[in-house]
Amino acid sequence: MKALRRFIVRPQLPDQLAPLGGLIRNLRWSWHSPSQDLFTDIDPELWQRLEGDPVKLLGAVSKDRLEQLAADPAFLERMHALDADLQAYLTAPRWYQQQTQLAGAQGAGELPAGIAYFSMEFGITEVLPNYSGGLGILAGDHLKSASDLGLPLVGVGLLYRFGYFWQSLSADGWQTEHYPAHDPQGLPLELVRAADGSELTVSVPMPGGREMTARIWRADVGRVPLLLLDTDIEANDDELRHTTDKLYGGDQNHRIKQELLLGIGGVRAVQAFNELNGRAPAEVFHMNEGHAGFLGLTRMRELHAERGLSWGEALAAVRAGTVFTTHTPVPAGIDRFPTDLVRHYFDPDEQGNSRLLPGLPVADMLALGAEDDPDRFNMAHMGFRTAQRANGVAKLHGAVSREMFADLYPGFDTAEVPIGSVTNGVHLPTWAAREMYQVAGDMSGWQDLASADEWPYADRVDNERIWTLRNTLRSRLVQMARRVVKKSWLQRGATEVELGWTDTVLDPEILTIGFARRVSTYKRLTLMLRDPERLKRILLDPERPVQMVIAGKAHPADDGGKRFMQEMVRFADDPEIRHRILFLPDYDMGMASVLCAGADVWLNNPIRPQEASGTSGMKAALNGVLNLSISDGWWDELYDGRDGWTIPTSGVADENRRDDLEAAALYDLVESRVVPLFYDRQDGRPDGWLDMIRHTLSYLGPRVQATRMVRDYVQGYYGPAARAVHAFGPDLAGTKEFAAWQHAVRAAWPQVRVMHVDTSGVGQDPSLGNVMTVRAYLDLAGLTEKDVLVQVVTGTVDGNEELSDTALVDMTYVGNGDGHRFQADVPLERSGPIGYTVRVVPANPHLASVAEMGLVTTASADAQPR
Ligand SMILES: *Cc1c(COP(=O)(O)O)cnc(C)c1O
Repeated sequence: MKALRRFIVRPQLPDQLAPLGGLIRNLRWSWHSPSQDLFTDIDPELWQRLEGDPVKLLGAVSKDRLEQLAADPAFLERMHALDADLQAYLTAPRWYQQQTQLAGAQGAGELPAGIAYFSMEFGITEVLPNYSGGLGILAGDHLKSASDLGLPLVGVGLLYRFGYFWQSLSADGWQTEHYPAHDPQGLPLELVRAADGSELTVSVPMPGGREMTARIWRADVGRVPLLLLDTDIEANDDELRHTTDKLYGGDQNHRIKQELLLGIGGVRAVQAFNELNGRAPAEVFHMNEGHAGFLGLTRMRELHAERGLSWGEALAAVRAGTVFTTHTPVPAGIDRFPTDLVRHYFDPDEQGNSRLLPGLPVADMLALGAEDDPDRFNMAHMGFRTAQRANGVAKLHGAVSREMFADLYPGFDTAEVPIGSVTNGVHLPTWAAREMYQVAGDMSGWQDLASADEWPYADRVDNERIWTLRNTLRSRLVQMARRVVKKSWLQRGATEVELGWTDTVLDPEILTIGFARRVSTYKRLTLMLRDPERLKRILLDPERPVQMVIAGKAHPADDGGKRFMQEMVRFADDPEIRHRILFLPDYDMGMASVLCAGADVWLNNPIRPQEASGTSGMKAALNGVLNLSISDGWWDELYDGRDGWTIPTSGVADENRRDDLEAAALYDLVESRVVPLFYDRQDGRPDGWLDMIRHTLSYLGPRVQATRMVRDYVQGYYGPAARAVHAFGPDLAGTKEFAAWQHAVRAAWPQVRVMHVDTSGVGQDPSLGNVMTVRAYLDLAGLTEKDVLVQVVTGTVDGNEELSDTALVDMTYVGNGDGHRFQADVPLERSGPIGYTVRVVPANPHLASVAEMGLVTTASADAQPR
């Protein structure tokens, strides 16, 4: 008989065990092995069966057992010690508090008192399945690292009733999706309540007078609260109730409602939450990808309604405090909506003002998301236009993004497009196996691992210790893989008696290559199958065999991806090789932590430069796994010749040929470099291999950590953003003057002109080391010399007088005469054909980049020497 309804009765803990509740409620346990050990000891068999979920464990453990523990002095002592440790973690000053003091002492300007971090998905632990892949896990690692460093940060996202799907395989290897419902009562979450105890809710007006209302769940990620909005409540009609049903499920109309809720509802939620809890208001808003882009609009509306700022003033204020991180180097990956759909939700009244965000002109809003196609509203473009600071997620991705979005800054060189980069990272305590965490500690000299820039003591860990550990981690992977493969074959319709062979798939002694990530075309899951016979020979080599473990989910609507998966599964089904190559269904964080730690080599072969960063190779590196990767994403900047191998990129345009060449390069590397090094043994140990591991750990360890990433954000983005907000003064009064200035500059700009340019100091025969004096005479069209920056641009010239490889020298104002006169001394530092010109850009202390306003005037050919 099926139940009509279900509910979860939360267990009543005996008083003596009260601190256990707190240890479970705070997700710090998910990266804190002593806490996990305590939970294990509550009931080891149950802990295993419930796959390490402490909320479920407490719900399932018998009352007798709890009473027994309540009377067990050793257990109670451990519990109290862990509780004290957690309280210290939650309250003691950390890196951020030191930085705040330092910044104060050096007059370097303040850091933000509050930061809000918005993301469509968050992967904190597999027991809170609210993520689909890398983007969400990055967001989770960001929160954990912000917690470790002590940042005053609050995460904001949505709670999906059905999360992302669970994956299984059909008999013929096709992906099937299941969406089990997650009851929030059974998740490590608590409802946020208002002061009077009622559920705190936020609402977003919908066209036709409807309201989309959400309650707010809170997860505690160490010191960082994560707020998750949930529309599955009575107050909503059926359609709106389903807004938060699935992550990345549904059509554009469904998606825009989710994004409106995240951006607009999210701002309201974080503000109410901060106020209720006496926390400082958020000064900096960070959008992890463009999905939360509407947050800028709702903040503009508030500044308009509450402080009387105009559209331009509000935009300036919002831009100053907003940071936008873009994650995709491919135009097709960008989130775009039909313009009409956006107009429908912003719902203009007779005056053209939005009913959703009263007082704001819909035409101006739409302009923020404008792109080439007038029928499309581009969330990334809105991100750049509403955030003064923006970045890609690896150096190469920063460069690719500057190119991709160069059209937003016409007249500027690609290098000047104001998009920087912060290379992603991963959270060490989450992703390093606990034994490896000890190794990291020894290599760093037990400094604070969250803030150590170097791990200088690679020699304190010897090869024997690493080798033993690597063997342990590989065995763990083999055990896990055997379990998963058997379960998968049972789901595919096999019976227990046919599956004896699954107990011996993989070999704990063999070189193991791991490959796991979302199945998207550019990641080329099946590149290794280009020459199936060659791969078979590699796998089945009688002396020096190789085994491969593969996993990943394809987006439910991506049939192309599912076909790749099927091809892989069918290849791995072959009885001749099925003990050497496995596809494991239902890749999640739990599986990733075993896989990324247990492989010897982590393979990554995307189409360069389409992998923005990639993070699983970083998880692997922290466990002493060597990367074998195309030079893309993070690997492009952190491969140093000794921490793994780079698969050469072919550079050919024809896709088939490219894949053939790159696959051949991959096989070559495996056969000629990877396999020989792994099987070259001294006293049974591959010392050459182990030396590479020790180098990898000490070199990459500090660099791939998410705490390094978050420190980079604080120094390069959050700090400058807070100072930009503060620079507008109390009540943002400075925005009035700044917006008026911008208006005047825009109005005057078409008339700004470089009238004459002349030089002296170099004769007929300029030679290296000469100094050229450049003078320019400008018509500033009513602007003053303080409103502009005038620069000499020098560079190499080609036959068409086109400048490349340019350098800039700022000119100084030397007075008025025939126009505004500027001058600079330019040393000739290069030989060969050199050219120069003069350009003018707007200048104001509130601008973060010269390209920001998209205004530049360059001397034209008629600006002749006089
Ligand atoms: C780390 C991780 C990813 C991201 O892997 P990439 O290498 O960045 O593609 C995806 N899914 C899971 C479950 C992960 O743990």
